[in-house]
Amino acid sequence: MAQSQARILIIGGGAIGTSIAYHLARAGERDVLLLEKAQLTHGSTWHAAGLVGQLRSKKNLTRLMQNSVAVFDRLEAETGQAIDWRKSGSIRIAATQERLAEIRRSLTQAKGFGFEAYEISAEEAQARFPWMTVEGVVGAAWIPSDGYIDPYSLTQAYAKRRAPGA
Ligand SMILES: Cc1cc2nc3c(=O)[nH]c(=O)nc-3n(C[C@H](O)[C@H](O)[C@H](O)COP(=O)(O)OP(=O)(O)OC[C@H]3O[C@@H](n4cnc5c(N)ncnc54)[C@H](O)[C@@H]3O)c2cc1C
Repeated sequence: MAQSQARILIIGGGAIGTSIAYHLARAGERDVLLLEKAQLTHGSTWHAAGLVGQLRSKKNLTRLMQNSVAVFDRLEAETGQAIDWRKSGSIRIAATQERLAEIRRSLTQAKGFGFEAYEISAEEAQARFPWMTVEGVVGAAWIPSDGYIDPYSLTQAYAKRRAPGA
């Protein structure tokens, strides 16, 4: 018989709904029901490119993304689901002084809580990514722990997690 009630109900089986279910299960919560009207990853998650960028304009958002990377680092071993997590690093480029100032502000904030990120020149950015042009680029940031993850597999991995003993 289909389950008709639960202590915690989550609506939507995208990356966010399954992530909430994952974190609840990891915290030992057993009575969680996730409802999905179509299939897991049926919404925006299906369209996502899978880019993982931690440097955000708000401190709390950077911390949230930093925590996601810590989850990605262990998720495959924890669930047995391949997630194609590739820590390739990322580059943010600035084509105006205003954008560079914003990147520098984010870098200062992020470094304040131990986040590894560096300001680099346009030429250093090009050395890491030779397909870009340096024309008009006034500066850049290099974030070594950013990368790519497969959104479909990530969602499936989140959905696999059960509370200990469940
Ligand atoms: C083209 C594109 C590229 C993107 N690239 C990136 C990227 O590179 N990196 C990145 O971090 N983010 C990216 N994003 C953003 C990312 O995809 C979303 O932030 C993320 O997928 C949101 O997940 P979600 O679980 O909130 O929503 P969704 O994935 O949309 O999940 C919602 C789910 O709820 C279900 N649902 C809706 N209503 C009901 C209901 N009444 N009952 C039951 N189920 C319901 C839907 O079927 C769906 O499966 C991209 C988005 C798009 C569109």
